[in-house]
Amino acid sequence: MRHSTSRSDAERLDRDDPLKSLRGRFDLPAGVVYLDGNSLGALPKNVAERVYRVVTEEWGRDLITSWNLHGWMELPSRVGGRIAPLIGATTGEVVCADSTSINVFKLLAAALKLNPDRSTILSDSGNFPTDLYMAQGLGELIGGARRLRVVDEETLVDSIDENTAVVMATHVNYRTGRRHDMQAVTRRAHELGALMLWDLAHSAGAMPIELDAVRADFAVGCGYKYLNGGPGAPAFLYVAERHLDSVRPPLSGWLGHEAPFAFDLEYRPASGIERNRVGTPAILNMAALDAALDVFDGVDMKQVREKSVALAEYFIELVEERCGEFSVELVSPRNASARGSQVSFRHPQAYAVMQALIERGFIGDFRAPDVLRFGFAPLYVRYVDAWDTAAALRDILETGAWDQEKFRVKSRVT
Ligand SMILES: *Cc1c(COP(=O)(O)O)cnc(C)c1O
Repeated sequence: MRHSTSRSDAERLDRDDPLKSLRGRFDLPAGVVYLDGNSLGALPKNVAERVYRVVTEEWGRDLITSWNLHGWMELPSRVGGRIAPLIGATTGEVVCADSTSINVFKLLAAALKLNPDRSTILSDSGNFPTDLYMAQGLGELIGGARRLRVVDEETLVDSIDENTAVVMATHVNYRTGRRHDMQAVTRRAHELGALMLWDLAHSAGAMPIELDAVRADFAVGCGYKYLNGGPGAPAFLYVAERHLDSVRPPLSGWLGHEAPFAFDLEYRPASGIERNRVGTPAILNMAALDAALDVFDGVDMKQVREKSVALAEYFIELVEERCGEFSVELVSPRNASARGSQVSFRHPQAYAVMQALIERGFIGDFRAPDVLRFGFAPLYVRYVDAWDTAAALRDILETGAWDQEKFRVKSRVT
């Protein structure tokens, strides 16, 4: 075994990290190395105080007057406007609302309506299942010939054809970290007359995204992954400016109405992005996300991406060097430009191995059937975290510490 690096090399990399101060914006528990920020982002320090204030001063004291007094009604657009620069959008193109699943449904239905002569929603088998499920449900609901077609990830671009109404793809594969070329897929979709819907669940907040520049039509994304908005945080959706006033929302709720408080009996969509709202926003959750977004203030997403790539390369090198002899095999693309911000390895006993890691305070996760997944949230993960995790993984594999009954019991959430 070659030991090309020592822990002091990792410490030096951390000292030289231009983003090292950002970790101080988070409340991270002692003794834990957190490599699951791609699934539930860590807690930013200012969230608890903000939520406490919203509960006590806004809800508790100012009661219903808070809808006007504290701008609760504008919160979805305001938070959307803060997410916009992180995804290469302008303020009026993004709104914070609902869950990612629901937003997939809303925008797919809108896309089908904009492209009425085409039959297919095209997606790939690397997509997160909920996106596919929502498309299946939509297909069943509207009936007829319009339905979901799922192809292999590698063949997505070449599968777009003149029947494709909308291409729905997740930018970064949740299991492998493989990343689609957003520009190439979008361009191909447009060449063939299809619309493009991106799911940014595993990329928003982890790397620069240029939705406007690549001329994406629609996008959705998660509030609780790299955006750190807390469990069940509301999601966001993006509609390119050129479509804002032609989108016909399928979930035509009162808060997407032009004049909700006119209480008209007839639905009339609001102008702009607001029409994509449905019902009353979850103010407590959305306030938490709003506060969480402060951690991105003044942060250069290009630097975030550079650190993410460097951390991942470092971790891949360490794990292959130390654990290669124990049947650990890289699943993520080796080429950084084809990868998001997570690194996945395959191991026949991946579930038990991950449970053993978690017991030692190294929190990654497991994805069926045999994937160990490590998320590198560049705002708070350090090089020493990568080093210590690789060392713990080697120890667990070398000693067989994973091979215990308690590590084989599957929990409801893996
Ligand atoms: C995490 C994730 C979701 C989650 O959807 P929810 O509605 O928030 O449960 C959806 N799509 C993708 C691609 C994801 O990674």
